[in-house]
Amino acid sequence: MDSTFGILISLAAIVFTFLPLLRKGKTISPVDRLHRNRESLEFDLENLETHLRELEFDFKMGILDSEDYKESKGEVQQQIDTIHKELTGEKDSKKTLSCPSCGAAVKAHNKFCKSCGHPLK
Ligand SMILES: [Zn+2]
Repeated sequence: MDSTFGILISLAAIVFTFLPLLRKGKTISPVDRLHRNRESLEFDLENLETHLRELEFDFKMGILDSEDYKESKGEVQQQIDTIHKELTGEKDSKKTLSCPSCGAAVKAHNKFCKSCGHPLK
């Protein structure tokens, strides 16, 4: 009985010693957080795409009727679109283009500069 109590005390001591260290290890810098967000978005996207395939499969197998399938598919597709927008929006903000001639901000899909008419690649 005494030895069990002793073990419990030492276990408690170990937990109290290492718990703050474990918590410290989990704090991440803002840069890591950005990176993590992107990774988690990509992770969510994969999950949603898998879910979409599962829905399709269930529909083909006759588990889902067409109304349920359309509704669920619409919801998942919407979430996928939102994540796509977030991911591409991030890419676009990194690729801020400027006109080589006048320096005005131009969009990647523009063929000519709206400010001076300089042809863009
Ligand atoms: Zn220009």
